[in-house]
Amino acid sequence: MTLDRRQFLTRLAAYCTAAGIPAFALADDDDGEHSGSSSSGTTTSTLPVTGLSGRMVVVGGGMAGAAVAKYLRLWGGAGVQVTLVEREPRYTSNILSNLVLTNTVQMSALAFDYAKLASTYGITVIQGEATAADPVTKTLTVATATGPRTLDYDRLVVAPGIDFAYPDGLQTPEAQALFPHAWKAGPQTTQLRDQIRAMRTGGTFIMTVPPVPYRCPPGPYERACVVADWLKRNKPGSKVIVLDANPAITAERENFTRAFEVTHAGVISYVPNAPVTFVDTATKTIHTGMGPFRGDVLNVIPTNVGPRFLQDIGVANAARGFAGVDVLSYESTAVAGIHVIGDASATTQPKAGHIGNQEGKVCADAILRVLGGGSPDPAPVTNSSCYSPITMTTASWLTAVFAYDPVTRTMKVVPGATGEALAANGDHYEDMFIWFRTLMGETFA
Ligand SMILES: Cc1cc2nc3c(=O)[nH]c(=O)nc-3n(C[C@H](O)[C@H](O)[C@H](O)COP(=O)(O)OP(=O)(O)OC[C@H]3O[C@@H](n4cnc5c(N)ncnc54)[C@H](O)[C@@H]3O)c2cc1C
Repeated sequence: MTLDRRQFLTRLAAYCTAAGIPAFALADDDDGEHSGSSSSGTTTSTLPVTGLSGRMVVVGGGMAGAAVAKYLRLWGGAGVQVTLVEREPRYTSNILSNLVLTNTVQMSALAFDYAKLASTYGITVIQGEATAADPVTKTLTVATATGPRTLDYDRLVVAPGIDFAYPDGLQTPEAQALFPHAWKAGPQTTQLRDQIRAMRTGGTFIMTVPPVPYRCPPGPYERACVVADWLKRNKPGSKVIVLDANPAITAERENFTRAFEVTHAGVISYVPNAPVTFVDTATKTIHTGMGPFRGDVLNVIPTNVGPRFLQDIGVANAARGFAGVDVLSYESTAVAGIHVIGDASATTQPKAGHIGNQEGKVCADAILRVLGGGSPDPAPVTNSSCYSPITMTTASWLTAVFAYDPVTRTMKVVPGATGEALAANGDHYEDMFIWFRTLMGETFA
């Protein structure tokens, strides 16, 4: 089903009003600025007095982890101690990172630090690597620059994102260093950008789409489009080959089919049913179920798997090492007292930053309700949105609302409030940046 953006917002607003979702989550002001989060102006001294108290430890300060840390404090009040453990000094957004490849966005615009979470909400931020958790003593072990630390918790929330299972030929660190996936934004993103810039005019850029589930369903197709657009302008005659492990385009099929067959006709070749079997780094050839493909720049996005840390703490009980959870609270179905949110959890919702933010809020709300002697909300609703640039000036979008289904105990798509852009255009391209700023402000400020 397709809706235009206004129709979508109107229907979504009506649905969410009925479902009791706060209006600020959707507001779209006439001046082009979303009305922002409910947090503006909050300081530790103005956190609500709720009478709740407890020690919450969050692992991973990405889209899901930063959100749950913020909302545990914002809704739980000053009595709820929150410690956020993150290995990096600052977060680099994957969202919009495909635009770094075309030099439209600089890496610096994707960096978010934890200063506001600390100063505005009184969250304790520890830079370090969480290495183990003991659910009996309720302690988390963290390796820091000054040595190991042990943190006591009443509830542990884990949001470590994803890891990768590399195909044959890309198993060694040396091979991986030469062929960046750039599916975690950072140095690999600029390395891939530089490889594309250095490619010969008339050359071939080959990228692969991993089998579902992977983070950001439209992301690989979006990457193919923006790289194709950049090559047309800067290296005419060059080609993009998309080797998809899946039988068909996995998200926004109409829009990406049009983008491949019309907007970027003659540049992008799309090959479905082409899982990678071997990468010959010497000849720059990707071997797949549909045969071998030789290119000048190879961008293999490996199969996404749950990070090793999930196994180490005993919660990796779903396919590919992801964590099974009860989506009313995101508590692990394997270990009580540990919650898993974001890409690391196995749910029917997409692995996406917007939904990670939503899962953080549902999880925070559930933990606080339980802390207060109640039960999690029996009917949570979440929503996911992705904007996908198709050219340097146009974008499309995709959104879905999910509601809890008590029969299957899963989050199910709400048909009337779900859809994609009718076509890519310049308005959507502008809206993409407003959406990004709003989402990141909701999460990190
Ligand atoms: C190119 C691209 C484009 C995308 N575009 C969109 C989009 O338009 N919309 C959208 O909604 N999503 C998009 N996504 C997906 C989105 O970025 C991810 O789904 C999202 O980041 C997942 O959030 P997360 O918190 O689960 O994991 P992450 O954001 O990856 O955060 C995990 C954090 O945990 C930390 N960590 C991991 N293990 C440990 C440990 N043991 N100890 C301490 N810290 C640890 C990591 O350093 C990291 O900061 C895109 C992704 C890519 C690659």
